Amino acid sequence: ESVVNRIAAGEVVQRPSSVVKELVENSLDAGATSISVVVKDGGLKLIQVSDNGHGIRYEDLPILCERHTTSKLSTFEDLQTIKSMGFRGEALASMTYVGHVTVTTITEGQLHGYRVSYRDGVMEQEPRPCAAVKGTQIMVENLFYNMIARRKNLQNSNDDYPKVVDLISRFAIHYMNVSFSCRKHGANRADVHTVAAFSRLEAIRNVYGVTVARDLLEITVSDDNPACSVFNMDGFVSNANYMAKKTTMVLFINDRLVECTALKRAIEVVYSATLPKASKPFIYMSINLPPEHVDVNIHPTKREVSLLNQESIVDRIQNAIESKLMSSNT
Ligand code: ADP
Ligand code: MG
Repeated sequence: ESVVNRIAAGEVVQRPSSVVKELVENSLDAGATSISVVVKDGGLKLIQVSDNGHGIRYEDLPILCERHTTSKLSTFEDLQTIKSMGFRGEALASMTYVGHVTVTTITEGQLHGYRVSYRDGVMEQEPRPCAAVKGTQIMVENLFYNMIARRKNLQNSNDDYPKVVDLISRFAIHYMNVSFSCRKHGANRADVHTVAAFSRLEAIRNVYGVTVARDLLEITVSDDNPACSVFNMDGFVSNANYMAKKTTMVLFINDRLVECTALKRAIEVVYSATLPKASKPFIYMSINLPPEHVDVNIHPTKREVSLLNQESIVDRIQNAIESKLMSSNT
């Protein structure tokens, strides 16, 4: 049974950066306004995510890392979100099958917190009282210690840390009221460090720098025609002065970081048609639409999504970007 569990867990947790993504999403779901990430050896030695969210209650600790444990399943709307955003209650459990997980947490009004370690879905011992500040810290150590081939692959291929930095940068511009930091273990300088921003543009400037932020155009689309689809989009896209060899597309759908290759390609087409001499674009885009209109295809842990009425949505976005580029380029 444990082999089966490990293989299933290895599907959910594919790389160190996928652990970071799950942990940060949990921190955001817990209402954190400050999230810090520390990574050692590209995440193979240590991944630590600390937040100031609402914490985990003592009585929830015994089952915290069992599969299907979730506190996010209470309303009908959540049920639809499950359908659209994939699985629930798998992330922490999976991590305990492929790494050593230690949770330190304190809830509001408590004098001390608790610390407890998990393996293969269960607590290793009773939670021990400990000093703690507000929120939760989750440490994942020795990731893939029991998956030798995976570990070797990751050691030989490029370090996953740049992916982690990229991920936190993306979260930081969307969740602009949350302060993020991301550093390598032992480094005294953080690679991402943000404070709550007053505007989206400021958030983008903080993370990607002035040279990106000064070349952006604001863009919005709202569509409330119930016959096709109810969606709205707002974001920033680069103008003709922006220079880059590669497209950067930061896409959030219903506040979840996802990828939509069809949309990305469609936007690249608009750029090469409208600004033939310009570079590949920078795009930050937040789309909201009914959760049942989002389809996570392939696999729930993949970020790739497709949308109901995708053609008409892509069309509207293409048109909006095209007219924005035309009017700014004259
Ligand atoms: P899911 O997020 O789908 O519920 P997870 O395995 O990621 O499943 O997490 C299981 C549960 O653990 C969550 O539903 C939540 O109740 C709790 N939890 C995990 N991380 C945190 C955190 N940082 N702060 C508070 N609660 C958390
Ligand atoms: Mg989760």
